[in-house]
Amino acid sequence: MNAALQSETGPEGTAHSGRPEVRVTPSRFRNAIGKYIVRRSKECIACGKCADICPYGVHEFAGKTMARPKDYRCIGAACENNDFYCVRQCPQNALSVRLNPILEVLGDKRWTPELLISTWYMAETGEVPPGDIEYKIGDSGGGFDRIEFCFPPGREPDAVPDDEVSLRIPLNRRNDGRPEVEIDMPVYGGGMSYGSISLSVMIARARAYQAWNSFTCTGEGGYPEELYPYDDHVITQVATGLFGVREDTIQRVRIVEFKYAQGAKPGLGGHLLGDKVTPAVAKMREAVPGNALFSPFPFHSVYSVEDHKKHVDWIKHINPRALVSVKVSTPTDVDMVAVGSYHAGANIIHLDGSYGGTGAAPDIAKKNIAMPIEYAIVKVHNFLKEEGIRDEMTLIVSGGIRTAYDVAKAIALGADGVVVGTSELVAVECIRCAACESGRGCARGIATTDPELSKLIDEDWATQRLINLFAAWRRQLIEILRKLGMRDIRELVGRTDCLKHFDYE
Ligand code: SF4
Ligand code: SF4
Repeated sequence: MNAALQSETGPEGTAHSGRPEVRVTPSRFRNAIGKYIVRRSKECIACGKCADICPYGVHEFAGKTMARPKDYRCIGAACENNDFYCVRQCPQNALSVRLNPILEVLGDKRWTPELLISTWYMAETGEVPPGDIEYKIGDSGGGFDRIEFCFPPGREPDAVPDDEVSLRIPLNRRNDGRPEVEIDMPVYGGGMSYGSISLSVMIARARAYQAWNSFTCTGEGGYPEELYPYDDHVITQVATGLFGVREDTIQRVRIVEFKYAQGAKPGLGGHLLGDKVTPAVAKMREAVPGNALFSPFPFHSVYSVEDHKKHVDWIKHINPRALVSVKVSTPTDVDMVAVGSYHAGANIIHLDGSYGGTGAAPDIAKKNIAMPIEYAIVKVHNFLKEEGIRDEMTLIVSGGIRTAYDVAKAIALGADGVVVGTSELVAVECIRCAACESGRGCARGIATTDPELSKLIDEDWATQRLINLFAAWRRQLIEILRKLGMRDIRELVGRTDCLKHFDYE
């Protein structure tokens, strides 16, 4: 039985009886990358003591000898004071532990090596990493990395069972006759098109979000038939290139997203290089194989709120049960854009900041256009309140949400929920090499439509890794709420008093 189906028959008595089950799902590569390297010298006599004492499963027998250490599980320096520290306990002095030198070249300031490694750990186990791996914050010197929670000093986290803490959020607050749609965690998947990622990854995302009762998004590039079983958990996107947009796909889903702009590339539109326009991608997009495809900026038919309303009306007419989401970047007047979208009839305003995006987004756009997302969230939240419409509009944000702590910070700044993308790719072992757009695409089978490379991803494996990651995030979000004395993620919205900015300590 696949992981998504299994969730539907989950244990009774949970908050949602279908909460998916965590299953340990190791790396698909022979040597997983960890923070530490454990070496066993030839002095080893295979006495098995290290296998007996290490609670993290680093040491194992392989027949009569010891297997190569699973050093990615080692907690390294944090173990030195433990009685079971294998380096000290080995009767032959055969073991050594040191920092993995790959940390010097892996990742970048935003996605630090430790954030990558901790995300892989959570995707494998569904648990928060033990030891000293930094899993909450990056090292960019800005954005969410300059903000942290200030928990009430001396206050023990509330001893409330997990199931009594709610992470559910409604997506339709307008009372407009359209369906109530709720998701079980304040996270859904961002638009990643058929063409930019492999079909296996697309399907795995849909299955994982179905299991968590949330949504994935097709991005701009069509709606593959393989997603039809997950229609109720798919958002389809209408973007400026209108690639793959058909009335029948709009009618399939519960949420349709207009993408006006992308936070990582505001004002630039989208670009799929010719190499990635395979015959299958071209067929889906009604284009010519091998030809690069552009999604222009902006919608050339929209220059006012009135034009925008015509767009929203069009979708609402074609699909009377769909909610409409409007995805915009963060120009300085983003608060006015949000209010305009409300008056045009949107249910969700989705702000996309510039910290996200793949290797396809040029740095000059990411770093020099539009407002940092942490400012935009507060601005929009406050302006919607001043206009008396905050309770009717769902505010979703994206662009560099990497961790459960980023999710909670975005909500404390004023968002109702977040959209993620890169974290999902990291969960299926993206290494942030930024080669997504080159040649046949990702050598790890993630951001590619090359038929051979795509086979590197097994759908069941990827689905379970995503399920596990969100299980670990859920634990952390619940723990944050407990520490703040809250029972519901909705209590956290706009609570900037729970945050501290390092620049204003
Ligand atoms: S404790 Fe030392 S000698 Fe014994 S199996 Fe482990 S590494 Fe080898
Ligand atoms: S090419 Fe693959 S591994 Fe590299 S950044 Fe892109 S998705 Fe990640």
